[in-house]
Order: sequence, then structure tokens, then C-alpha cells
Amino acid sequence: MVAVDTIKKRERNIMLKQWLDQAACRGVDTNIFMPLRGENVKVTTAKKICGECPVKQECLDDSLRQAQQIDLHGIFGGLSKKQRDGMLRSQNLVSARSALYDN
Ligand code: SF4
Repeated sequence: MVAVDTIKKRERNIMLKQWLDQAACRGVDTNIFMPLRGENVKVTTAKKICGECPVKQECLDDSLRQAQQIDLHGIFGGLSKKQRDGMLRSQNLVSARSALYDN
């Protein structure tokens, strides 16, 4: 019998592949999306490509999900790690406030 977690992982991978097929970064040098400190041209180029990507939201959502398990560096969904961390902090703050005042 296949574990439920394995099925969920497979379903997630299939969904992931479906939106990745439409990614604007397909075939683009992945180094552009992993800029080192000070490589501003790479950051600008990556964000420009993400800005025209039809699956930008899916990419951002996936990167935010992954960030709960791994330290994910680079540009995803048009945002840097620092920007995504800021989003997560804001979401956690909102969740914490909701939990506090909804009870
Ligand atoms: S948003 Fe950017 S990193 Fe994500 S799939 Fe699109 S082009 Fe690639």
C-alpha cells in the first residue's frame, strides 16, 4: 500500500511540472536567478523575466511553501529571498494576530 504522503508528493510534483512547463525561465541560465551579493544586473534580469512569467504566482506560492522546510535562496516569483522572508514574517504576524483575537 502506498503511503498517503507519497501520493500527495506525487500529486504535488505533477502539479508543479504542469506550471513549470509554462515558466518564462525555461531554458534560461539558472545562474541568473541565483545572484551573489552585488550582482545587481542578474537581479534586474531575473526580475524582468519573472515579471513576464505567466506562472509567477504559482512560483511564488511554491517558493513560500518550500521556505517552511528549506532555506531557499535566489529569485522566485519575481522576489528575492529577503522579500519572500518579509512576506512570510507578515503572514505569520497576521496569523498570530488572528489566532490571538479570534479566540
Ligand atoms: S516566476 Fe520567475 S523563477 Fe518563477 S517560474 Fe516564472 S520566470 Fe521562473
